[in-house]
Amino acid sequence: MSLNLALTCGAAALGTGLWLLILQRYDRVETETVGELLQVVVLGGGGSVAVAALLNEGFARAMGLETLLTGRVGGAGGGALVAFSLFIGISEEVTKAVSTVYVTRRFGDLDEPVDAMIYAMSVGLGFAALESVFYATRFGNEVLLMRFLWPVPAHMAYASVWGYGLAKARYVFPERSRARVMAPSVALGAGVHAGANFLLLLQGTLPTLLGTGAALLSLGALFVLAYVAHYHLRELVAESPFLDPGECPECRHRNPPQARRCTRCGTSLKQTSIFTTCPCGDIRVPVRTPECPKCGLDLREAQRGLASSAS
Ligand SMILES: [Zn+2]
Ligand SMILES: [Zn+2]
Repeated sequence: MSLNLALTCGAAALGTGLWLLILQRYDRVETETVGELLQVVVLGGGGSVAVAALLNEGFARAMGLETLLTGRVGGAGGGALVAFSLFIGISEEVTKAVSTVYVTRRFGDLDEPVDAMIYAMSVGLGFAALESVFYATRFGNEVLLMRFLWPVPAHMAYASVWGYGLAKARYVFPERSRARVMAPSVALGAGVHAGANFLLLLQGTLPTLLGTGAALLSLGALFVLAYVAHYHLRELVAESPFLDPGECPECRHRNPPQARRCTRCGTSLKQTSIFTTCPCGDIRVPVRTPECPKCGLDLREAQRGLASSAS
């Protein structure tokens, strides 16, 4: 291996490791090990980036838009930019989502709702990190810093959208087809991805000031998406089945089972949407469980009572 390629791989590994550590910090109840996450980063990211690269290349050749693959807009018209952005968004999000479902089935330990988002974002990270290695071999190592600050977190953020969908598919609707439950969130992730790509391609066709505006809009959308991912990760970690009734997901203090706020750190312990505490206070069960396995209470009846007293 040449020194230059070794440098590229080292820098990409460092960037990947840093993002992985940030992501792992969200998984605070039953933490996946870095080893488990790395397997998913490499296998899930590698598999999906290979398939997506073939699909994107095939589409670009069929449409005569090869230059767009390296970000050079050239003389491509508006319609071509829209079609290309949409195709990239769909092909990359679908391959990452399919790869996440298969890789976590074999190598992941998807035993809490938040793990679905953690693994999805790990696949997004692996995808973008490998893509960055490819870019660096083509355009030089100086592109790596920018890539790990923008496209890499962007890929993690797109994946967070359908990672949240995977959590719902696995824990709220386990009896339904996973593809069907996840489809709306994959479509949303693909749409956001396509929009961001389109703005960046558009930047190359516009006068400087407008072009900068388009790039800033794309960056702003990434910040919004990252905030939503942060919010959803925190929401899902509070749904962990490893928490006891009343246990605070932040500080692990054991409050009374129906407590609304942690008495130690003040975190809100609001009623959650995936696991809920049975009124008997002894157990947390999936919200759609018909009957409490501890006390035998008819939980659907209790939920209806709660809903009507709330309205
Ligand atoms: Zn607390
Ligand atoms: Zn009960």
